[in-house]
Parts: sequence; structure tokens; C-alpha cells
Amino acid sequence: MAAQTASAASTGGGVGVGVGVGVGVGVGVGEVAGGALEMRAAVLREPGRPVAVETVTLAAPRRDEVLVRVAAAGVCHSDVHLADGLLGAGRAPMVLGHEGAGVVEAVGDGVDGLSVGDHVAFCFVPSCGACGACRAGRRTLCETAGRFGVAGMLMDGTSRLRAADGAVLQHGLMVACFAEYAVVPAGGAVPLPASIPLWQAALLGCGVVTGVGAVNRAGLRVGATVCVIGCGGVGLQVIAGARLAGAGTIVAVDVDPGKLELALRRGATHAVLGRGGSPVVEEVLALSGGGVEHAFEVVGRPDTIRQAWDVLRPGGTATVVGVAPVGVEVSLPAIEFLSEKTITGSYYGSSDVHAALDRLVQLVVDGRLDLGDVVSDLIELDGVEGALDRLRRGEGARSVIVIDEALAGVSV
Ligand SMILES: [Zn+2]
Ligand SMILES: [Zn+2]
Repeated sequence: MAAQTASAASTGGGVGVGVGVGVGVGVGVGEVAGGALEMRAAVLREPGRPVAVETVTLAAPRRDEVLVRVAAAGVCHSDVHLADGLLGAGRAPMVLGHEGAGVVEAVGDGVDGLSVGDHVAFCFVPSCGACGACRAGRRTLCETAGRFGVAGMLMDGTSRLRAADGAVLQHGLMVACFAEYAVVPAGGAVPLPASIPLWQAALLGCGVVTGVGAVNRAGLRVGATVCVIGCGGVGLQVIAGARLAGAGTIVAVDVDPGKLELALRRGATHAVLGRGGSPVVEEVLALSGGGVEHAFEVVGRPDTIRQAWDVLRPGGTATVVGVAPVGVEVSLPAIEFLSEKTITGSYYGSSDVHAALDRLVQLVVDGRLDLGDVVSDLIELDGVEGALDRLRRGEGARSVIVIDEALAGVSV
């Protein structure tokens, strides 16, 4: 099949994507040989250099994979870490983006439970079901998905993405949804009811499942005392989860007064501004009558992880959700292990993401879990570097890239 330009595709109206049924592809996307697509995507060429939009090629989905037309994508702090080279060497060139939602455009062989036209949220750990972690029921710790996710490849160890010069591009956390289309493993697409607007559903697959899942992992009881340090896109979901779980006192800590406002609206009972050397720990201890039972660190820095430990009452548990750069270490006063404090981590909600999302989606449909209120900025794909900069400065809760306004259900 001859290569077809983007302009030809757009003037021609509906152009089959070459896989499965012929579904129209939109303006700016062309079909090239072998059922591959040309599309716009935000590419990290080299850590430390601004992320820029390029025209790249996306090959058709293979067995057990699906092609998703991306509606919207959230910009997460892990994207900043990747862009800044803080998650290890060898992670570029890469199409960024791991939190998003869209519509299934084509399915590869062997895919069950997903059909063309389904609305889906991305899941960046499409667990294999066969490794030691999966067999032990720890599916977000899937060893296969972990290995290939770090390598920027799909579950068969290869990439569907190529730059214009033919160079292989990595799939950001096995999703790569800062792009018009994404090919993901079938397990990386979770079906959603069409009633949830996709610009809001975009947040489900990272921020929501990570934040609420951390609350589940901590095993909150009704009336529990809680402190959440870091009230960005994930921390605000921890607060929502704590409220739904029946927490009593919820102390929110952040350096941004705007995010603390949001935290109070989401169910925090107290807000502490952690800026300019303020005595955060003392304030939280005073507000909670001597310390909280559960602290959640949602920043990923040694000083805030230490704060999460210090605000605990004896017997309390600190759960670290924030992603720290590779090589960062934390020190704790070892004498305090006598007070039976616990510190642990929670990765991606610590459960089966598909099952967790089924439950969370029901809460959204029932109006008990708001999604859109954490979205501080709606932007175009070209605005991704600006969104990364806002995260570097700690500004705004969540930027959502609207890639297809009609599908996303919102305009920029
Ligand atoms: Zn994320
Ligand atoms: Zn596995």
C-alpha cells in the first residue's frame, strides 16, 4: 500500500486504519504501509531537553493488542521525572504519557472483552498473570510488565512507534498517550461506561486508581486520623478515598494554597501550608491530638517522606505513594521503631487495576467520586512542556491534554 499523506487522509474523510473494521481516522492522521498510522505525538528526545510534538509512525496492533484513538491525557509527575531523566538511564527517545482515555479503534487477534468503539482508560501495568508476583495476587507488581515498561516496550518486548527517520521510539510506561493514537496491550485498556466524559475518565488510570488504592492498601477504618502530604493530582484522590473510607480527621499539607482549597473541597478537614520553613509536623501533631494513624506521602521527596513518618502516632503507618528519583535515600530515627510505626509503599493502587477501576467507575457513575474538579488546566498537545513546567513549580493540580475535543467532550 502506498504511503498516504495526512492531508490526503483529511480531505478524503474516513480512511480505514488497516486493521479490523474500517473506521474513519481524523484530520492530521495518515495511513502508511502495513496499516501503520502517521500521527502527532509528544516526544522526549533527550532528558533535560523540552518535549516537542513530532510526526511519528504507529504500527498496527499485533496479537493481544488494541489501537486506541486518544481523547485526552493527564500530565503526571512521573512524566516530569522521565523528562528530567530522574527515573534511570536509557529512557529516551520516548513518546510520553501514561494516564489517559480514548476509544478503541481496532483490535488485534486474540483480544477478548474489547470491541471497536469501546471507551477505555489506559492501565500502565497490563499484568501478565503468569509471573511470580501475578500468581501471588500482586498484579501491579507484575515482573513482566515491570521489565518491559522500564524498557519502553510492549508486552512482547517490541515497540510499535517509529520517528520520521525510522528510529525506534519507546512507549512511555507502555502507554504513550501524549499522541493521537496509542497501541497498547489489551490488558492496558480498561472498558468504561460511555456516560463518563473522556476528559475526566483520562484521570482514572493513574491518579485515581493510585490515590484511592493507597487508601485501600492502608486499610483505613471509620473515624481514622489521616494526613496527606502533597495535594496534586494523586494526593487529591487519596483525600477523596479517605473521605469515602470514613476517615475522621483528614489533614492536608501542600505548598500551594490553591491545592489546599481543593483538598478542603474534597473532604480534608484541616489544611496546613508547608511553605517557608513552617512547622508542618508540629501543626499536624497539634491538629490530630498527638499524631495520625495514617500518613500518605504523595510527593516523592526525602523531606516529605520524613514528615510522613514524623506525623504518625505510635503504631501508625506511613504509606509512600510519591515517586522519588532513582538514587534518593531517606533516613529515619531508628529508635522510633520501638513505637511500632510502619512505613511502606503503594504502587499503582496495590491491587488488580481492572477490578479496582470497575468499582471506582461505579462510584463516579453514582456521583460519589468527582473527577473533573482536580483538573486545573485543559491544554492542547503542543502545551505539554508548559504543563511539565507547572508541575516542576508545584503549580496546579492536574493538566489534561485534550487531543480530540469531540471525543473528549470538552474544548480547550
Ligand atoms: Zn502517573
Ligand atoms: Zn505478571
